[in-house]
Amino acid sequence: MKIAVLSRNPRLYSTRRLVEAGRARGHEMQVIDTLRAYMNIASHKPQIHYRGQALEGFDAVIPRIGASVTFYGCAVLRQFEMMGVFPLNESVAISRSRDKLRSLQLLSRKGIGLPVTGFAHSPDDIPDLIDMVGGAPLVIKVLEGTQGIGVVLCETHKAAESVIEAFMGLKQNIMVQEYIKEAGGADIRCFVVGNKVIASMKRQAKPGEFRSNLHRGGSASLIKITPEERMTALRAAKAMGLGVAGVDILRSNHGPLVMEVNSSPGLEGIETTTGQDVADIIIQHIEEHARPHQTRTKGRG
Ligand code: ADP
Ligand code: MG
Repeated sequence: MKIAVLSRNPRLYSTRRLVEAGRARGHEMQVIDTLRAYMNIASHKPQIHYRGQALEGFDAVIPRIGASVTFYGCAVLRQFEMMGVFPLNESVAISRSRDKLRSLQLLSRKGIGLPVTGFAHSPDDIPDLIDMVGGAPLVIKVLEGTQGIGVVLCETHKAAESVIEAFMGLKQNIMVQEYIKEAGGADIRCFVVGNKVIASMKRQAKPGEFRSNLHRGGSASLIKITPEERMTALRAAKAMGLGVAGVDILRSNHGPLVMEVNSSPGLEGIETTTGQDVADIIIQHIEEHARPHQTRTKGRG
């Protein structure tokens, strides 16, 4: 097969591993710099141009779209979809997953366990918003943050009020969430490919920090997940419409709670921690599922 990897940088670990794994399985792999792909939308025959030439003959595309280029990246991916190329994850599912609030709304519709979460616009509603999620301590999150940036723990009601007021004053959309203290600064990353959790790891925040992100100094270790956690991760990926997803779960004293669903989960942490050849499993998944003109949303929505 001829497979495109939409990525800004061929040297990134995940991109490199996917290209390597694809070539090892006999595929033609091409990394396409997301921001250098441009499109002809008006014609009857949708096209993508790259460095002066039309891209042709691709069977599948692996989107590795960074959070900072979501809008443009999803437009390029949608164009691939309209050309009938099989996307590892669909553009619609990726844009959904990039908005934390929209994601939680979709997950709640499917009855998936979530931390109690509130969203409001007016500063007048702050006191009730805080009560709604059970009072302080609570977590405040910028809707489009990543890597732990824009995630704040407020220990007291007063602190929560002032931080929420500040974000609202800056016209920054935030959500307010119950703090799952018993998770102890740890979460579980379940790596979903198709209908399987193919690898999972525990991430533990460094001392004095509640965010377990590896970018914030967290450390990863092997973990055996429970059947309930496995089921929750699979249901969450399905609810988002993602074929490949990193589902992050908090262990609360009333069962697994999904915190977020990542549509471009990194391979480095999970491969080095678990020893699994995740890239190879992803390529196998593409081999099994890639058919022309399969995008369910056909680039719409
Ligand atoms: P990001 O997209 O920036 O990674 P997350 O929502 O994943 O944002 O939050 C970052 C980290 O903060 C999580 O990995 C987790 O360790 C911690 N965290 C987030 N929400 C909660 C919560 N409600 N209770 C306890 N810890 C949380
Ligand atoms: Mg996260």
